[in-house]
Amino acid sequence: MSAWLDPLRRVLDETAVALSFFFRDDDVGRGDDRLTPLLDRFARRAIPIDLAAIPQALHPPLADALRRAVARSGGAVGIHMHGFAHMNHESAGRKAEFGTSRDAADQRRDLEDGRRRFEALLGDVVAPFFTPPWNRCTETTGRLLRELGFQALSRDAGEPALGLPGLVELPVRVDWLRRPAASPHDLSLVAARLAAARPERPTGIMLHHERMDEDELERLDELLALLAGHRAARCRRMAALVADGWDG
Ligand SMILES: [Zn+2]
Repeated sequence: MSAWLDPLRRVLDETAVALSFFFRDDDVGRGDDRLTPLLDRFARRAIPIDLAAIPQALHPPLADALRRAVARSGGAVGIHMHGFAHMNHESAGRKAEFGTSRDAADQRRDLEDGRRRFEALLGDVVAPFFTPPWNRCTETTGRLLRELGFQALSRDAGEPALGLPGLVELPVRVDWLRRPAASPHDLSLVAARLAAARPERPTGIMLHHERMDEDELERLDELLALLAGHRAARCRRMAALVADGWDG
């Protein structure tokens, strides 16, 4: 048994109500060769995963592979939009593609172009959800998403909720790559975030396959094994959480 997961194991053992989790893997379109090993781990444990793909980084062979992965998964793999080009447009401060320096027209054009590209390459396997690069966007983005028919927005739980009726927010609460400075293999911060799981909200876990080597996948598999085997853990697709009316 993996000792680093003891804090989460205790929370799961003690809860009277099941806890919901979802996994969001970002930056699909980059580091393609590391995506399949990650998807294999999820398939082996029968745990669902949502892929946040960059429209501008999609190319036909990758799109074909993604469509096949979705078809094979029997509903366990979802795909949604991760920005447009994953490009920073802020000249100062925190990076953002959909930040305060972009007006509504710029943002709308990116969202529409991204969706068009998604529809052309992926067809109807795309979920109407949006993850902004760096987990950041403005209220303008939220209003545009709603106008364009997007149903859900996923950012970091540290960002204040937009609270726009009709736009579900499914933030991530755990960054798998969050490590103490100078201790790249120390999972204590990840464990602490996981142990903050509560029945009243789903716990989103953000991954970046591009930065996950075999050793990282082994550690992740320890988490997947715990969640797959524990009576109190429910791993869901984002679409299932939205359908069930979860928010926040
Ligand atoms: Zn990203």
